[in-house]
Amino acid sequence: MTTTLTSRVFNFSAGPAMLPLPVLQQVQDEMLSLPGVGASVLEISHRSKDFIAILEDAKQRIKQLTEMPDTHEVLFLQGGSALQNVMMPMNFLTEKSQTADMILTGSWSKKTAAEVFRFGKLNVAWDGKETGYRRVPQQDELKLTPDAAYCHLTSNETIHGVQFRELPDTGDVPLVVDKSSDMFSAPIDVSKYGLIYACAQKNAGIAGVNVLIIQKDLLERCDDRLPSYLDYSKHSENDSMFNTPPTFAIYVTGLVCKWLQEEMGGLEKIRGFNEEKARLVYDAIDNSQGFYKGHAAVADRSTMNVVFMTADDETDARFLKQAAEAGMTTLKGHRSLGGIRASIYNAMPIQGVESLVQFMSDFAEKNG
Ligand SMILES: *Cc1c(COP(=O)(O)O)cnc(C)c1O
Repeated sequence: MTTTLTSRVFNFSAGPAMLPLPVLQQVQDEMLSLPGVGASVLEISHRSKDFIAILEDAKQRIKQLTEMPDTHEVLFLQGGSALQNVMMPMNFLTEKSQTADMILTGSWSKKTAAEVFRFGKLNVAWDGKETGYRRVPQQDELKLTPDAAYCHLTSNETIHGVQFRELPDTGDVPLVVDKSSDMFSAPIDVSKYGLIYACAQKNAGIAGVNVLIIQKDLLERCDDRLPSYLDYSKHSENDSMFNTPPTFAIYVTGLVCKWLQEEMGGLEKIRGFNEEKARLVYDAIDNSQGFYKGHAAVADRSTMNVVFMTADDETDARFLKQAAEAGMTTLKGHRSLGGIRASIYNAMPIQGVESLVQFMSDFAEKNG
């Protein structure tokens, strides 16, 4: 046990990412036998009362954390956010003539937009391409379609490190948001969203489950010609048990939510904690006399993924190598952008960020 703990690094991976230590410890404690069950969560039927209790608990905790109104419901689906990119247009563009408005702020929203043409019309409401995906749009820059079936955005661009602080106003058009990399990182007003989806492996658990919060009204729009498995309403009718759900992943999401509630004190507290961590890293960039350059525009930089670089690839590589030697791993920027990326999700402790900024300052001094 001690060896395991002392050998743990500060893991800045963008995802799958670091999990809270108490969550890992509870998984370990309960691995051979869930309390009162005598078998592992990996071994029990998804229809058993024990697993149904786990699923219900995870769902309740998501409702409590987000103060979710009754107009919405929680679904657990598989296929990652990649499948959501397809299910959204499939379910909501019931005619080829219908339009989806897409706000393009980086790689992930572009990927989402790329699936739309199969099912209907794509309207690019804004594209940050010209500015190298460094910022999010202002309201008056958006070219919205008044009768769009939905408007999609990615609240946090994991690769470019750009995050929406405020949601655009889309009027009556439902807002559909990929929150894969900033789910549960701050309070959220669920009533403003038609659909929220997040693959769990960044901030909400492990790979294998996608957490959705969907407005119940939207379920009525789902096209009944769809294959059952790809129809949101079928998953809703079956309470996320249309088929065998990813039981272990749902269990871990429940534990992450419990940790957020009981140890971190909820989403308002976690926001403060995340802002403090992000401030430390951005200060280290801003106070480096240009040794480090941040990618995102100051007003829109992400609290979750801090993307920056030094003057050249060689220095970046040296930074990454020496950081890893000092116990800070997976700081390499995404292959499409290069440089350095520090993903500092909910589970990254302040100590991890403090050692990173100390390292950044020492490295700049030696190499500047
Ligand atoms: C990681 C990520 C995804 C990818 O999700 P998959 O589960 O791999 O399909 C999608 N969107 C965003 C914003 C992400 O950060």
